[in-house]
Amino acid sequence: MGKEKLSTQLIHHPYKPPEGFEAVAPGVHKASTVIFPNVHALRTYDWKDKSGYTYGLHGTPTTFTLEERIATLEGGRFCVLAPSGLSALALVDMAFLRSGDELLVPDNAYGPGKAFAAGELAAWGITHRFYDAMNPADLAAKITPATRLVWFEAPGSITLEFPDVPALVAVVKAANRARAGGDRAIVTALDNTWGAGIAFSAFDLGVDVSMQALTKYPSGGADVLMGSVVTRDEALHRDVLLCHMRLGLGVSANDAELVLRGLQTIELRYHQQDATARELATWLQTQPGVARVFHPALPGSPGHATWQRDASAAACLFSAAFDASIPQERIDAFCDGLRRFRLGWSWAGPVSLCAPYNVPGIRTLGWPHAGGLVRFAAGLEDVEDLRADLAQALPRLHP
Ligand SMILES: *Cc1c(COP(=O)(O)O)cnc(C)c1O
Repeated sequence: MGKEKLSTQLIHHPYKPPEGFEAVAPGVHKASTVIFPNVHALRTYDWKDKSGYTYGLHGTPTTFTLEERIATLEGGRFCVLAPSGLSALALVDMAFLRSGDELLVPDNAYGPGKAFAAGELAAWGITHRFYDAMNPADLAAKITPATRLVWFEAPGSITLEFPDVPALVAVVKAANRARAGGDRAIVTALDNTWGAGIAFSAFDLGVDVSMQALTKYPSGGADVLMGSVVTRDEALHRDVLLCHMRLGLGVSANDAELVLRGLQTIELRYHQQDATARELATWLQTQPGVARVFHPALPGSPGHATWQRDASAAACLFSAAFDASIPQERIDAFCDGLRRFRLGWSWAGPVSLCAPYNVPGIRTLGWPHAGGLVRFAAGLEDVEDLRADLAQALPRLHP
Protein backbone atom coordinates (compact mmCIF):
# COMPACT_ATOMS: atom_id res chain seq x y z
CA MET A 1 0.00 0.00 0.00
CA GLY A 2 1.42 3.41 -0.96
CA LYS A 3 1.40 6.50 1.21
CA GLU A 4 -2.21 7.31 1.96
CA LYS A 5 -3.86 10.69 1.58
CA LEU A 6 -4.04 13.07 4.51
CA SER A 7 -7.70 12.54 5.43
CA THR A 8 -7.13 8.77 5.59
CA GLN A 9 -3.98 9.21 7.65
CA LEU A 10 -5.76 11.47 10.13
CA ILE A 11 -8.72 9.12 10.60
CA HIS A 12 -6.60 5.97 10.90
CA HIS A 13 -3.83 7.63 12.89
CA PRO A 14 -2.43 5.05 15.33
CA TYR A 15 -2.91 5.49 19.04
CA LYS A 16 -2.46 3.17 21.99
CA PRO A 17 -5.88 2.02 23.23
CA PRO A 18 -6.33 0.43 26.65
CA GLU A 19 -5.94 -3.36 26.57
CA GLY A 20 -9.02 -4.95 25.00
CA PHE A 21 -10.82 -1.68 24.15
CA GLU A 22 -10.20 0.00 20.86
CA ALA A 23 -12.69 2.73 19.98
CA VAL A 24 -12.67 5.21 17.09
CA ALA A 25 -12.00 8.09 19.48
CA PRO A 26 -8.85 7.95 21.58
CA GLY A 27 -9.41 8.14 25.33
CA VAL A 28 -9.39 11.45 27.19
CA HIS A 29 -6.85 11.41 30.01
CA LYS A 30 -6.74 14.14 32.64
CA ALA A 31 -3.90 14.77 35.03
CA SER A 32 -1.91 17.18 36.99
CA THR A 33 -0.36 14.38 39.09
CA VAL A 34 0.97 11.30 37.34
CA ILE A 35 1.74 8.38 39.69
CA PHE A 36 5.20 6.80 39.45
CA PRO A 37 5.65 3.10 40.29
CA ASN A 38 8.88 3.72 42.26
CA VAL A 39 11.61 6.27 42.97
CA HIS A 40 13.77 4.99 40.13
CA ALA A 41 10.93 5.77 37.69
CA LEU A 42 10.41 9.20 39.28
CA ARG A 43 14.08 10.00 38.77
CA THR A 44 14.44 8.62 35.24
CA TYR A 45 11.19 9.05 33.31
CA ASP A 46 11.71 11.60 30.53
CA TRP A 47 8.72 13.40 29.05
CA LYS A 48 10.88 15.30 26.55
CA ASP A 49 11.14 12.36 24.16
CA LYS A 50 7.66 11.05 25.11
CA SER A 51 9.18 7.89 26.61
CA GLY A 52 7.40 8.49 29.93
CA TYR A 53 4.71 10.56 31.63
CA THR A 54 5.78 12.73 34.56
CA TYR A 55 3.31 15.57 35.12
CA GLY A 56 0.17 16.93 33.46
CA LEU A 57 1.97 20.00 32.12
CA HIS A 58 4.56 17.75 30.46
CA GLY A 59 1.96 15.83 28.49
CA THR A 60 -0.66 13.10 28.74
CA PRO A 61 -1.65 10.31 26.35
CA THR A 62 -4.34 12.71 25.03
CA THR A 63 -2.02 15.65 24.34
CA PHE A 64 0.71 13.40 22.93
CA THR A 65 -1.85 11.87 20.53
CA LEU A 66 -3.00 15.31 19.41
CA GLU A 67 0.60 16.49 19.00
CA GLU A 68 1.38 13.51 16.80
CA ARG A 69 -1.67 14.15 14.60
CA ILE A 70 -0.90 17.85 14.22
CA ALA A 71 2.67 16.94 13.24
CA THR A 72 1.20 14.58 10.62
CA LEU A 73 -1.18 17.31 9.41
CA GLU A 74 1.73 19.70 8.89
CA GLY A 75 4.20 17.16 7.52
CA GLY A 76 6.50 17.93 10.46
CA ARG A 77 8.15 15.73 13.11
CA PHE A 78 7.55 17.50 16.42
CA CYS A 79 4.62 19.45 17.85
CA VAL A 80 4.03 21.49 20.98
CA LEU A 81 0.51 22.58 21.99
CA ALA A 82 -0.31 25.98 23.47
CA PRO A 83 -3.56 27.31 24.99
CA SER A 84 -4.31 29.61 22.01
CA GLY A 85 -2.95 30.51 18.61
CA LEU A 86 -1.62 33.75 20.03
CA SER A 87 0.20 31.99 22.86
CA ALA A 88 1.77 29.62 20.30
CA LEU A 89 2.95 32.66 18.33
CA ALA A 90 4.34 34.31 21.47
CA LEU A 91 6.01 31.01 22.44
CA VAL A 92 7.94 30.99 19.16
CA ASP A 93 9.09 34.56 19.83
CA MET A 94 10.15 33.76 23.38
CA ALA A 95 11.88 30.49 22.43
CA PHE A 96 14.17 32.10 19.85
CA LEU A 97 14.63 35.74 20.88
CA ARG A 98 16.93 37.18 23.53
CA SER A 99 17.64 40.73 24.63
CA GLY A 100 19.48 42.57 21.84
CA ASP A 101 17.94 40.45 19.07
CA GLU A 102 15.71 41.81 16.33
CA LEU A 103 12.53 40.31 14.95
CA LEU A 104 11.19 40.95 11.44
CA VAL A 105 7.43 40.76 10.95
CA PRO A 106 5.36 41.18 7.77
CA ASP A 107 3.49 44.48 7.82
CA ASN A 108 0.29 42.54 6.99
CA ALA A 109 0.77 39.99 9.79
CA TYR A 110 -1.81 38.98 12.40
CA GLY A 111 -2.30 42.10 14.56
CA PRO A 112 -2.06 40.65 18.09
CA GLY A 113 1.33 39.15 17.16
CA LYS A 114 2.53 42.65 16.28
CA ALA A 115 1.10 43.89 19.58
CA PHE A 116 3.09 41.21 21.46
CA ALA A 117 6.30 42.47 19.85
CA ALA A 118 5.49 46.10 20.63
CA GLY A 119 4.05 45.57 24.10
CA GLU A 120 6.21 42.82 25.56
CA LEU A 121 9.29 41.99 23.47
CA ALA A 122 10.26 45.67 23.22
CA ALA A 123 10.30 45.93 27.01
CA TRP A 124 12.74 43.00 27.12
CA GLY A 125 15.16 44.76 24.77
CA ILE A 126 14.06 42.83 21.68
CA THR A 127 13.40 45.16 18.76
CA HIS A 128 11.10 44.48 15.81
CA ARG A 129 10.67 45.93 12.36
CA PHE A 130 8.02 45.45 9.72
CA TYR A 131 8.81 44.42 6.16
CA ASP A 132 6.76 44.22 2.97
CA ALA A 133 6.13 40.49 2.57
CA MET A 134 5.35 41.00 -1.14
CA ASN A 135 8.87 42.34 -1.73
CA PRO A 136 11.76 39.95 -0.87
CA ALA A 137 14.20 42.80 -1.54
CA ASP A 138 12.61 44.74 1.33
CA LEU A 139 13.22 41.77 3.65
CA ALA A 140 16.83 41.53 2.43
CA ALA A 141 17.34 45.24 3.13
CA LYS A 142 15.98 44.96 6.66
CA ILE A 143 18.05 41.98 7.87
CA THR A 144 20.88 43.11 10.18
CA PRO A 145 23.42 41.17 12.29
CA ALA A 146 20.87 41.42 15.16
CA THR A 147 18.09 39.70 13.20
CA ARG A 148 17.28 36.38 14.81
CA LEU A 149 13.72 35.51 13.81
CA VAL A 150 11.69 36.25 10.65
CA TRP A 151 7.95 35.64 10.55
CA PHE A 152 5.94 34.86 7.43
CA GLU A 153 2.19 34.64 6.98
CA ALA A 154 0.59 33.21 3.82
CA PRO A 155 -1.56 35.02 2.96
CA GLY A 156 -1.39 38.20 5.04
CA SER A 157 -4.09 38.79 7.64
CA ILE A 158 -7.16 40.82 6.56
CA THR A 159 -5.84 41.79 3.10
CA LEU A 160 -4.83 38.29 1.97
CA GLU A 161 -1.80 39.11 -0.20
CA PHE A 162 -0.05 35.78 -0.91
CA PRO A 163 3.73 36.13 -0.48
CA ASP A 164 6.49 34.21 -2.24
CA VAL A 165 7.56 32.19 0.81
CA PRO A 166 10.37 30.28 -0.98
CA ALA A 167 11.84 33.60 -2.15
CA LEU A 168 11.64 35.04 1.38
CA VAL A 169 13.24 31.86 2.77
CA ALA A 170 16.02 32.19 0.17
CA VAL A 171 16.73 35.73 1.40
CA VAL A 172 17.10 34.45 4.98
CA LYS A 173 19.25 31.49 3.93
CA ALA A 174 21.60 33.82 2.02
CA ALA A 175 21.89 36.04 5.11
CA ASN A 176 22.62 32.99 7.26
CA ARG A 177 25.39 31.85 4.86
CA ALA A 178 26.96 35.30 5.08
CA ARG A 179 27.00 35.22 8.91
CA ALA A 180 30.20 34.82 10.86
CA GLY A 181 30.70 31.41 12.50
CA GLY A 182 29.74 32.38 16.04
CA ASP A 183 26.57 34.30 15.09
CA ARG A 184 23.29 32.53 15.74
CA ALA A 185 21.40 31.71 12.56
CA ILE A 186 18.12 33.41 11.71
CA VAL A 187 15.11 31.14 12.29
CA THR A 188 12.08 31.38 9.97
CA ALA A 189 8.54 30.86 11.27
CA LEU A 190 5.27 30.75 9.36
CA ASP A 191 1.86 31.49 10.82
CA ASN A 192 0.18 28.63 8.98
CA THR A 193 -3.35 29.11 10.33
CA TRP A 194 -4.73 29.89 6.86
CA GLY A 195 -3.06 26.95 5.07
CA ALA A 196 -3.81 24.68 8.07
CA GLY A 197 -1.59 21.93 6.64
CA ILE A 198 -4.14 21.45 3.84
CA ALA A 199 -3.44 24.17 1.24
CA PHE A 200 0.34 23.66 1.22
CA SER A 201 3.14 22.21 3.35
CA ALA A 202 4.99 24.91 5.27
CA PHE A 203 8.08 22.72 5.40
CA ASP A 204 8.07 22.09 1.66
CA LEU A 205 8.17 25.88 1.24
CA GLY A 206 11.34 25.81 3.34
CA VAL A 207 10.34 27.32 6.69
CA ASP A 208 11.85 26.12 9.98
CA VAL A 209 8.82 26.48 12.26
CA SER A 210 5.09 26.26 11.46
CA MET A 211 2.67 27.74 13.96
CA GLN A 212 -1.11 27.35 13.76
CA ALA A 213 -4.16 28.59 15.60
CA LEU A 214 -5.86 25.20 16.09
CA THR A 215 -8.78 27.42 17.13
CA LYS A 216 -9.57 27.73 13.40
CA TYR A 217 -9.62 24.71 11.07
CA PRO A 218 -8.39 21.83 13.27
CA SER A 219 -11.12 22.60 15.81
CA GLY A 220 -13.71 23.77 13.31
CA GLY A 221 -16.37 24.28 15.95
CA ALA A 222 -15.79 27.91 17.01
CA ASP A 223 -15.68 26.60 20.58
CA VAL A 224 -12.03 25.85 21.35
CA LEU A 225 -8.91 27.98 21.73
CA MET A 226 -5.60 26.23 21.04
CA GLY A 227 -2.36 26.65 19.14
CA SER A 228 0.50 24.51 17.88
CA VAL A 229 4.16 24.88 17.01
CA VAL A 230 5.50 22.24 14.61
CA THR A 231 9.10 21.68 13.57
CA ARG A 232 11.14 19.15 11.63
CA ASP A 233 14.47 20.07 13.20
CA GLU A 234 15.08 18.48 16.60
CA ALA A 235 17.27 21.29 17.97
CA LEU A 236 14.61 23.90 17.15
CA HIS A 237 11.96 21.67 18.73
CA ARG A 238 14.04 21.46 21.93
CA ASP A 239 14.19 25.26 22.16
CA VAL A 240 10.41 25.48 21.79
CA LEU A 241 9.74 22.57 24.14
CA LEU A 242 11.94 23.86 26.97
CA CYS A 243 10.55 27.40 26.70
CA HIS A 244 7.03 25.93 26.71
CA MET A 245 7.82 23.91 29.86
CA ARG A 246 9.39 26.89 31.65
CA LEU A 247 6.36 29.05 30.86
CA GLY A 248 4.01 26.39 32.22
CA LEU A 249 1.76 26.32 29.15
CA GLY A 250 -0.82 23.56 29.16
CA VAL A 251 -4.02 22.64 27.32
CA SER A 252 -7.10 20.97 28.76
CA ALA A 253 -7.81 17.34 27.90
CA ASN A 254 -11.38 18.21 26.96
CA ASP A 255 -10.19 20.86 24.52
CA ALA A 256 -7.66 18.40 23.08
CA GLU A 257 -10.51 15.93 22.64
CA LEU A 258 -12.51 18.47 20.63
CA VAL A 259 -9.59 19.17 18.34
CA LEU A 260 -8.97 15.41 17.88
CA ARG A 261 -12.59 15.12 16.83
CA GLY A 262 -12.37 18.13 14.51
CA LEU A 263 -9.27 16.78 12.76
CA GLN A 264 -11.25 13.88 11.32
CA THR A 265 -13.29 16.28 9.17
CA ILE A 266 -10.73 19.04 8.59
CA GLU A 267 -10.08 18.23 4.95
CA LEU A 268 -13.78 18.03 4.08
CA ARG A 269 -14.55 21.30 5.85
CA TYR A 270 -11.53 23.06 4.35
CA HIS A 271 -12.51 22.23 0.79
CA GLN A 272 -16.20 22.93 1.35
CA GLN A 273 -15.48 26.39 2.76
CA ASP A 274 -12.92 26.97 0.00
CA ALA A 275 -15.58 26.35 -2.67
CA THR A 276 -18.10 28.60 -0.92
CA ALA A 277 -15.62 31.44 -0.38
CA ARG A 278 -14.40 31.35 -3.98
CA GLU A 279 -17.92 31.45 -5.36
CA LEU A 280 -18.98 34.33 -3.11
CA ALA A 281 -15.75 36.28 -3.70
CA THR A 282 -16.09 35.93 -7.47
CA TRP A 283 -19.69 37.09 -7.35
CA LEU A 284 -19.05 39.93 -4.89
CA GLN A 285 -16.49 41.59 -7.15
CA THR A 286 -19.22 42.18 -9.76
CA GLN A 287 -21.46 44.05 -7.31
CA PRO A 288 -21.89 47.85 -7.36
CA GLY A 289 -19.91 49.67 -4.68
CA VAL A 290 -17.31 46.90 -4.42
CA ALA A 291 -13.99 48.26 -5.67
CA ARG A 292 -11.90 45.11 -5.19
CA VAL A 293 -12.13 41.67 -3.67
CA PHE A 294 -9.06 40.07 -2.14
CA HIS A 295 -8.79 36.29 -2.29
CA PRO A 296 -5.61 34.50 -3.41
CA ALA A 297 -7.52 32.38 -5.96
CA LEU A 298 -8.95 35.43 -7.76
CA PRO A 299 -6.86 36.53 -10.75
CA GLY A 300 -5.64 40.04 -9.95
CA SER A 301 -5.56 39.49 -6.20
CA PRO A 302 -2.03 40.24 -4.92
CA GLY A 303 0.15 37.13 -5.08
CA HIS A 304 -2.37 35.12 -7.12
CA ALA A 305 0.34 33.58 -9.34
CA THR A 306 2.40 32.61 -6.29
CA TRP A 307 -0.65 31.04 -4.65
CA GLN A 308 -1.26 29.07 -7.88
CA ARG A 309 2.33 27.85 -7.85
CA ASP A 310 2.61 26.98 -4.13
CA ALA A 311 -0.90 26.07 -2.91
CA SER A 312 -3.57 23.57 -3.91
CA ALA A 313 -6.50 25.12 -2.03
CA ALA A 314 -7.61 28.29 -0.28
CA ALA A 315 -9.22 28.98 3.10
CA CYS A 316 -12.64 30.48 3.79
CA LEU A 317 -11.54 34.14 3.88
CA PHE A 318 -12.15 36.95 1.40
CA SER A 319 -12.10 40.70 1.86
CA ALA A 320 -13.94 43.44 -0.03
CA ALA A 321 -12.57 46.96 -0.42
CA PHE A 322 -15.46 49.31 -1.13
CA ASP A 323 -15.51 52.38 -3.37
CA ALA A 324 -13.78 55.31 -1.67
CA SER A 325 -16.99 57.35 -2.12
CA ILE A 326 -18.90 55.06 0.28
CA PRO A 327 -18.68 56.41 3.84
CA GLN A 328 -17.81 54.07 6.71
CA GLU A 329 -21.30 54.38 8.22
CA ARG A 330 -22.82 52.87 5.04
CA ILE A 331 -20.34 49.98 5.25
CA ASP A 332 -21.24 49.53 8.93
CA ALA A 333 -24.93 49.53 7.97
CA PHE A 334 -24.24 46.84 5.36
CA CYS A 335 -22.52 44.69 8.01
CA ASP A 336 -25.37 45.31 10.47
CA GLY A 337 -27.84 44.29 7.75
CA LEU A 338 -26.33 40.83 7.25
CA ARG A 339 -28.29 38.00 8.88
CA ARG A 340 -26.31 34.86 8.12
CA PHE A 341 -22.85 36.45 8.20
CA ARG A 342 -22.58 37.24 11.92
CA LEU A 343 -20.31 39.89 13.39
CA GLY A 344 -17.40 38.31 15.21
CA TRP A 345 -13.70 37.44 15.29
CA SER A 346 -12.10 34.20 14.22
CA TRP A 347 -13.07 31.96 11.29
CA ALA A 348 -13.21 28.36 10.01
CA GLY A 349 -16.18 27.48 12.19
CA PRO A 350 -19.70 26.51 11.08
CA VAL A 351 -21.05 30.09 11.13
CA SER A 352 -20.13 32.66 8.48
CA LEU A 353 -18.57 35.80 9.94
CA CYS A 354 -17.63 39.30 8.90
CA ALA A 355 -15.92 42.34 10.41
CA PRO A 356 -15.05 45.81 9.10
CA TYR A 357 -11.39 46.87 9.28
CA ASN A 358 -9.57 50.16 9.06
CA VAL A 359 -6.53 48.87 7.18
CA PRO A 360 -4.44 52.10 7.18
CA GLY A 361 -4.73 52.07 10.98
CA ILE A 362 -3.08 48.64 11.25
CA ARG A 363 -0.31 49.16 8.68
CA THR A 364 3.07 50.80 9.11
CA LEU A 365 4.19 50.68 5.47
CA GLY A 366 0.98 52.08 3.91
CA TRP A 367 -2.04 50.71 2.06
CA PRO A 368 -3.01 51.77 -1.47
CA HIS A 369 -6.82 51.69 -1.17
CA ALA A 370 -8.87 54.64 0.05
CA GLY A 371 -12.18 52.85 0.76
CA GLY A 372 -13.28 50.84 3.78
CA LEU A 373 -12.76 47.08 3.93
CA VAL A 374 -14.79 44.16 5.26
CA ARG A 375 -13.34 40.71 5.81
CA PHE A 376 -15.68 37.76 5.34
CA ALA A 377 -15.23 34.17 6.53
CA ALA A 378 -17.45 31.61 4.83
CA GLY A 379 -18.91 29.05 7.23
CA LEU A 380 -20.60 25.76 6.40
CA GLU A 381 -24.01 27.18 5.43
CA ASP A 382 -25.41 26.71 1.92
CA VAL A 383 -23.66 29.00 -0.57
CA GLU A 384 -26.92 30.24 -2.14
CA ASP A 385 -28.27 31.29 1.25
CA LEU A 386 -25.05 33.18 1.92
CA ARG A 387 -25.17 34.88 -1.47
CA ALA A 388 -28.79 35.87 -0.83
CA ASP A 389 -27.76 37.33 2.51
CA LEU A 390 -25.04 39.46 0.91
CA ALA A 391 -27.45 40.51 -1.85
CA GLN A 392 -30.15 41.67 0.58
CA ALA A 393 -27.66 43.77 2.59
CA LEU A 394 -25.64 45.32 -0.29
CA PRO A 395 -28.29 48.00 -1.11
CA ARG A 396 -27.49 49.55 2.29
CA LEU A 397 -24.26 50.80 0.73
CA HIS A 398 -26.32 53.09 -1.53
CA PRO A 399 -29.32 54.50 0.35
C1 LIG B 1 -6.82 33.46 14.99
C2 LIG B 1 -5.42 33.63 14.55
C3 LIG B 1 -4.37 33.58 15.46
C4 LIG B 1 -4.58 33.47 16.95
O1 LIG B 1 -5.35 32.40 17.36
P1 LIG B 1 -6.15 32.45 18.77
O2 LIG B 1 -6.38 31.03 19.07
O3 LIG B 1 -7.37 33.27 18.54
O4 LIG B 1 -5.23 33.09 19.76
C5 LIG B 1 -3.09 33.71 14.98
N1 LIG B 1 -2.85 33.88 13.67
C6 LIG B 1 -3.83 33.94 12.76
C7 LIG B 1 -3.49 34.12 11.33
C8 LIG B 1 -5.15 33.82 13.18
O5 LIG B 1 -6.12 33.90 12.28
